[in-house]
Amino acid sequence: MALRRGFKTDAEWYAQDVRRELGIPETGKLCPWSLAKHLEHIVVDLSSFQKEHPLDVARLRQCTGAKGFSAVTIHKGTARLVILNDGHEKPRQTADLAHELAHGLLHHVPLPLSDETGVRMFNARDEEEAHWLGPTLLVPGPSAHAIARQRLSIEMAAAQYGVSKELMRMRLNISGAFKRAKPHGLAPEGQQIAIRAPRLAWRC
Ligand SMILES: [Zn+2]
Repeated sequence: MALRRGFKTDAEWYAQDVRRELGIPETGKLCPWSLAKHLEHIVVDLSSFQKEHPLDVARLRQCTGAKGFSAVTIHKGTARLVILNDGHEKPRQTADLAHELAHGLLHHVPLPLSDETGVRMFNARDEEEAHWLGPTLLVPGPSAHAIARQRLSIEMAAAQYGVSKELMRMRLNISGAFKRAKPHGLAPEGQQIAIRAPRLAWRC
């Protein structure tokens, strides 16, 4: 599903607006846990349910990789509770939390987790928007261009922003930072590779 016209520009605006609110420079690193606190979203690690619900936690953790459970936001009145799978590596958790916060920033309407037949319910347009905004919050256009100008390697840039190499590479590609950095280009690892961001699945 295609994003609505102007959404990508709006996403960059959100990335800068939250930085302004948090007092972060436009190219600065955004900590999604700080943003969650700012947005009054309570973040709870999946592992904290281990003692009371060991089987549920085990089931949610049985799949790893892109298909593994990432996170879910539970709405109760105006309260927002994000359950985050802390079994993943930190960069994955960072992306997953940014994705959930993107839903919140965009005021997406929550849906029941599943319908009466047990089939997972989701809004494809909302997911596509959060799928775009989440990475943009973490690595907005100005950051991508700064990285390209500094000729940082993908590894260094990813470490600097606390994200995965895949997410960093995707944002550098999409933002056009590689093209602008020519003819010098990025450091060797930073070759222009057209890939999509990893899908942040809700369930196994
Ligand atoms: Zn989502």
